[in-house]
Amino acid sequence: MTSIQWTEQTWNPTTGCDRISPGCDNCYALTMAKRLKGMGQAKYQTDGDTRTSGPGFGLAAHPDTLTEPLRWKKPRKVFVNSMSDLFHARVPREFLVRVFAVMAATPQHTYQILTKRPERAARILTDLCRCGTGHPPGEHFRSSMEWAATSHSPTYVPGLEHGIYHRSGWPLPNVWIGTSIENADYARRADALRETPAAVRFISAEPLLGAVPNLDLSDIDWLIVGGESGTGARPLEIGWVEDLLVNAAETATAPFVKQLGSVWARANNATDAKGGNPADWPANLRVREYPAAAPAAA
Ligand code: SF4
Repeated sequence: MTSIQWTEQTWNPTTGCDRISPGCDNCYALTMAKRLKGMGQAKYQTDGDTRTSGPGFGLAAHPDTLTEPLRWKKPRKVFVNSMSDLFHARVPREFLVRVFAVMAATPQHTYQILTKRPERAARILTDLCRCGTGHPPGEHFRSSMEWAATSHSPTYVPGLEHGIYHRSGWPLPNVWIGTSIENADYARRADALRETPAAVRFISAEPLLGAVPNLDLSDIDWLIVGGESGTGARPLEIGWVEDLLVNAAETATAPFVKQLGSVWARANNATDAKGGNPADWPANLRVREYPAAAPAAA
C-alpha cells in the first residue's frame, strides 16, 4: 500500500499481505515487516508464503488494536492498514465487520482504506441479501456491526455502544475507499470500486508504471498520481501523468499529483529525491486537489 500525504494517523487492525500485481514488486510494507520481525515486534511474527510474501508479513488479524480509534478523541484522518490490505482474502468477514463497527462508532475520524482487491470490497460491502427475505443491500452487514456493539456477542469490541445500526448511515459517511491502479492491465479495478458502496471513492495511480488510457474515472471522486521511489524504482513518463489529468478533468475527478518518482528526480536534478517538490515539475502537473466533502449518508 502507499501512504497518502494528508493522512495524520495509521491504524493497522491487520498486518501482512501477498503480492498480486506489478505495483507490489517493491512493497515497502513487506520490507518493513521483515525488519520489525527482527526487532521482535509482536504484530510481525507471522511469516508469509516465500513466493508472494515474506518474513513477518503473513496475514494476521489483531483484535487488540480494534479499540485504538476509540481512544483518539480529537478528529483524525486515519489511513487504515499501511502494512496490509484490509480486503485480503484471508481477513474474515467477521473481522471486517468489527473494523467497520469501530469506524461507525467514531464518526469524528475520517478513514481511508486503499486496496488492490476491490472485487472483494464490492462483494462484501454491497452485501446482497441471500437469506431469501429480500433485505436491502447492506442490511446484513449493518446488523452484524450491531452485534460487534453487543456485549454478550462473541464479536463484541469492548467500548462500543449499542445503536450503531440506527446511528450510522450506509455507506458510512466517514469512510473513503480506494484502489491502486498501476497500469492499463489493472484499470478494471476501477469498475469494482464503482460497485463498492463508499462515501468517497478514490484511485491511487501509484506507483504509476505505464499509461492507463482505458481508465474510466466516472463516479470516482479523487485521483492520486505518483511515481515510484526507493531501491529498484521504475521510471515514470510525464505523458502518462498528463493523460490522466486530462481524463480526470473530463469527469470532474479531483487530481492530486504526489511525486514524480526517484528516477525522474535524478534525471532532472530535482530538489527532492522522490520528485515530490511541485516547484521542480512542469507547470501543468502542479495540481493537488482534494475531493469535495463526503456526500450525506443514505
Ligand atoms: S497489496 Fe499492498 S500491502 Fe499487499 S503486497 Fe501489494 S503493495 Fe504490499
